Formats: sequence, C-alpha cells, structure tokens
Amino acid sequence: MPRTGRNDPCPCGSGKKYKLCCLEKDRAAEFATAVRQRVALQAQKDNQAAQRKDYQAALLESQALDAASNAVVDLVHAGRLDEAEQAARELLVRYPEVHDGYDRLGMVHEARGQFREAADCYRKVIEFTRANPEDYDAGFVDSFLELIVKLEFCVAEAESAVNDADRSR
Ligand SMILES: [Zn+2]
Repeated sequence: MPRTGRNDPCPCGSGKKYKLCCLEKDRAAEFATAVRQRVALQAQKDNQAAQRKDYQAALLESQALDAASNAVVDLVHAGRLDEAEQAARELLVRYPEVHDGYDRLGMVHEARGQFREAADCYRKVIEFTRANPEDYDAGFVDSFLELIVKLEFCVAEAESAVNDADRSR
C-alpha cells in the first residue's frame, strides 16, 4: 500500500490534509509497534539464551550425576563397600530428585548380603518411577520388581535357615 503523502487528503475521510489530521497519530502508532516488536524480539533472544544456559546446566548436572553414580558401582565392584555406601548417601543428598542414590545404596546392601535393606532401597526406586512415569520405561520398573522378588526370596531363605538352626539347637 503506497504511503499517504503529507499533503494528500487524510485517509480517515475528514477532508483535511493528512499532515494536519492523522499523520502524527499514525507515526506514533508505527513507532509504538516498532518498539513493541524490538522488545518482543529481544525477549525471545533472552529466552533462547536462558534456555540454552538451562540446557547446558542440566547437561553438566546430569554428567556429574552419571559420573558420581558410576563411581559407586566401581567402588562396589572393587569391594570398597564403606566408601561405596558413603558415596551412595552423598548421591541421595546431592540428587534427591532422582532414583540413583537408592539404586546405588541398594547395590551396596546387596553386596553386603543385607537383602531386606536392599529390597527397601529398590522399593524407593520404584516410588520414583511411579512419581515420574514419563522418565522411565516399563523394562526399568520390571527389572527392579524382579530384583525385589529375588531379594525377598533371599530374606525368606535366610530366615528359614535361622529357624532350622534354632530348631536343631
Ligand atoms: Zn485524518
């Protein structure tokens, strides 16, 4: 649409020259629109930058979590169970919003033959999956359910062995 000339009749139909009628008002509106667009664009850029920062922070955090979580597994495999327990408890404190601490603490209890405690930890893991089902697949939950069943069996076995020992005394 061609711009109305300053000396043209005003498009509002008043019959006055544009410069003496709506020109001021139209320019002000154009300026306001341009300012709003700049502000919106800047806000979008800021938002994207913040999202990138959040994403990077989350990525670093998740790498740190993975490293700390793997360190517990290494300690368990090395048989350094006291250190492993300490590290697992630190995971629980540092990353209370994820299941990893209970997962690793369960591994430590298992390695010590503390089956009941291990099963309790794995139940906590399952509570996490129930609270955030979108973060976990069914296989994950099943693997912990299986572990719990196995551990309960070990607990029952251990108890019946104790009872047998009592009876034979
Ligand atoms: Zn006008």
